[in-house]
Amino acid sequence: MKINVSVIRGDITKSRSDAIVNAANPSLLGGGGVDGAIHRAAGPRLQAACRRLNGCMVGEAKITPGFDLRAAYVVHTAGPVWQGGGYGESELLANSYRNSLLVADAHRCRTVDFPSISTGVYGFPLVKAAPVAVRTLMATMRTCQYVRRVRIVAFDAHTYETFAAAIAANAEMA
Ligand code: ADP
Repeated sequence: MKINVSVIRGDITKSRSDAIVNAANPSLLGGGGVDGAIHRAAGPRLQAACRRLNGCMVGEAKITPGFDLRAAYVVHTAGPVWQGGGYGESELLANSYRNSLLVADAHRCRTVDFPSISTGVYGFPLVKAAPVAVRTLMATMRTCQYVRRVRIVAFDAHTYETFAAAIAANAEMA
């Protein structure tokens, strides 16, 4: 399958993709940042569905309907909190991207949008996170049966530019 990972500027709550990924926390009971925005846009049924999931370990991913969103599904993953880099943060971040994409593929999603997981309140340095994200998404896409397009939806210019550079660097190596 053709590998198709790109970055766009935008608000992930407006996505028309089959699935959007939520950078949630292990409780799955809602939070700030992109998590809060997704819950506001999806309506209260999302919170009710999340309550039934019994949380999510760091690096794991769980799926719900999108409810009032245009996206059919929300994949919830808890990314790692940055603790200096010596606590397996990169591996855990890779797990979040990989497991989110795999659960979307298992639900026959063809198009999946991601926010930049862990690089907001969780403090993961963007220049370290973007190459991990891009490498993991490209490798995982090769194993997917349905997913044919993956996008990072960057909320700000710095995130957009850092992901664009990571994608360009990966394309050079391919
Ligand atoms: P984390 O706790 O995993 O760090 P945050 O929500 O704090 O999650 O931040 C993750 C990224 O999501 C940040 O780059 C933040 O700017 C971005 N973000 C916030 N709101 C949105 C949105 N509506 N669409 C896309 N990205 C968003």
